[in-house]
Amino acid sequence: MVNEEIMKSLAIKTESKIVLLVTDGIGDLPSENNKTVLEKAFIPNLNKLASKSACGLTDPISCGITPGSGPAHLSLFGYDPIKYQIGRGVLEALGIGMELTSRDLACRGNFATLNKEGIITDRRAGRIATELNVKLCTLLQDKINQIGDVEIIIKPGKEHRFVVVFRGDGLEDALSDADPQKVGEKIKFAEPLDSKAKKSVETVNEFMKQATEVLKEHHPANTVLLRGFAKHPGLPTMKELFKLTPAAIATYPMYKGLAKLVGMDILETGESLSDEFKTLQDNFSRYDFFYLHIKKTDSYGEDGNFEQKIKVIEEVDKYIPEVLALKPDVLVVTGDHSTPALMKGHSWHPNPFVLFSKYIRVDEAEQFNEKECVKGGLGRFPAVDVLPLMMANALKLQKFGA
Ligand code: ZN
Repeated sequence: MVNEEIMKSLAIKTESKIVLLVTDGIGDLPSENNKTVLEKAFIPNLNKLASKSACGLTDPISCGITPGSGPAHLSLFGYDPIKYQIGRGVLEALGIGMELTSRDLACRGNFATLNKEGIITDRRAGRIATELNVKLCTLLQDKINQIGDVEIIIKPGKEHRFVVVFRGDGLEDALSDADPQKVGEKIKFAEPLDSKAKKSVETVNEFMKQATEVLKEHHPANTVLLRGFAKHPGLPTMKELFKLTPAAIATYPMYKGLAKLVGMDILETGESLSDEFKTLQDNFSRYDFFYLHIKKTDSYGEDGNFEQKIKVIEEVDKYIPEVLALKPDVLVVTGDHSTPALMKGHSWHPNPFVLFSKYIRVDEAEQFNEKECVKGGLGRFPAVDVLPLMMANALKLQKFGA
């Protein structure tokens, strides 16, 4: 992608509308009958769309790099995922639906077990039940809500995991994990990696001490480990960079959180696909950019569940005519990364990509799948170029130079 300053200078505000439909982890590998999930699925509407679109394959980050959904989505939103790295603590906080501000330092926490000699014997406190985790987080929050001028916000995750947000001025994230990473060692306090992180280190270590005191009668969950300290990244918004008025339709907290980080409005929606597509219809007049996220294709890919992954994409297919009936100026259907059911996890393989607009060169690709999209006229390109491409096709970019 051209640099941000150039994008800013070229972007113009227009009435045209863009829909970016992200089927999470849709890219797949051939398995039975040498076919991928997309090749096996009955998806007549997506195939018809591909036959009259410009197609290609995108690399989320770079060739050979397997991404998390966080950086893979940032690319699709037009942000350099290497420049804007979002730390684990922030992603975890977004993942459990916490609202973050630019003054926040977030981290992941574990309840852990300390023996009488002060040695950590279990880094997961025997994987305590989530209900107990909720109780202990409430207890900690009651006893520790402020350290100096820093507000402390604690929220439970699953089993032994929770998130702590330190909210205050002057907190930096250049500090080491407060976690020895292995059993048989004493509590390890955070250390500064930069002198600017002094206040963060003092606050975090004071929290560790107070939390261990509060928890001392709660064996096996009688101490805490903290890691992945990360500041809110303070990204420029899509409005600032691209003059878009964007909205997100997603059901999982992390994706809503990511969308909020880039300044999208998060639209209220229900859990089902029909709810999500209905929300798109209901709000279509109010925004000029829509990000619609389908999560289940990735979830079933991670489970290695070919059949269900096929079913989800077949269901998505049924809504394509409804989306086209809204007459978006640009419709893109793609994934953020591949999650081959064969690998039961994310992978580095490029994503099938389809772009429909009035101004495309229709190519040889006839279907929405990996083998067809590779024949597409857009070839193989970095996902960070998707946003400029969508904007160009929506006539939202001026000429560069005279
Ligand atoms: Zn993903």
